[in-house]
Amino acid sequence: MRVRVGVLGWPVAHSRSPAMHNAALAAVGLHDWHYQRLPVPPALFEETVRALHLVGFAGANVTIPHKRAALALADSSSRAASEIGAANTLTFARDGTIAAENTDAPGLLAALGGLGELPARPRALVLGAGGSARAAVWALRESGAEVAIWNRTRERARALADELGVRAVDAPEPAELLVNCTSVGLHAPDRVERSASHDLPLNQLGMTLDQVGEYANVVDLVYSSGTTQLLAAARERGARTVDGLEVLVAQGALSFELWTGMRPPLELMRSAARA
Ligand code: NAP
Repeated sequence: MRVRVGVLGWPVAHSRSPAMHNAALAAVGLHDWHYQRLPVPPALFEETVRALHLVGFAGANVTIPHKRAALALADSSSRAASEIGAANTLTFARDGTIAAENTDAPGLLAALGGLGELPARPRALVLGAGGSARAAVWALRESGAEVAIWNRTRERARALADELGVRAVDAPEPAELLVNCTSVGLHAPDRVERSASHDLPLNQLGMTLDQVGEYANVVDLVYSSGTTQLLAAARERGARTVDGLEVLVAQGALSFELWTGMRPPLELMRSAARA
């Protein structure tokens, strides 16, 4: 029987994971494997996931809005997934038991390698307090960074900071590393505005374009067909940057390795995700 893997989400039509994983599976010679989109509404999530191993699924990635539910239904989970409170990768055993992992966290740390050398214990400012921020804050804290969280809704920043043992800040503050985990920029135009005004996307991040120049290293989890306004501003001001597709590729590569036990062809996954 064909071995299946896929991505569970709602919606999931935009996902670049099928292109990335199918290219990788073919490249390592797993021609009987196939990665597909699995659009599943929340009400059907658990019963669908529990049936997947019966129809040949070895595992699945999990995206919005199912990451917490994925952890909750799993029979076992890694320390990362448990402490983050969310899973983005499920692996199905032949008897139907489900193991939960979170590769978003180590994926982010792997993608930071693209920045070059960072201080041993960098000050990191995470923008956002949603699902991706949880994984990013946990990963950065685990790696030894001194983490602060800023979020539009302050209470959410405080709650996340308290839970993960870091600081919440009321306004963006200086740091060696800035990580955008909000969805601001998802629909931003590719051009960079020269001056900040109240309706620019960046102002929703609590900072002006010039303030972006105060961060030497900038990561934007948002990925779009072009660059985001945050990354364009950062590059223009000489910062080293990593975009959301690099993070996507890094977490996908770790999931691929979990399911197949094979080394992921990173360069190929990168070009498939960017195609
Ligand atoms: P989420 O759980 O819905 O959280 C959204 C976050 O964005 C919240 O902190 C929210 O603040 C903030 N936000 C939304 N609109 C805002 C606005 N207009 N101004 C200021 N803040 C705003 O989403 P998520 O799962 O964390 O995902 C966030 C982004 O990361 C998405 O674009 C997603 O596609 C991307 N992502 C990328 C990867 C990757 O591998 N590259 C992985 C995961 C996610 P409030 O609390 O105030 O609402």
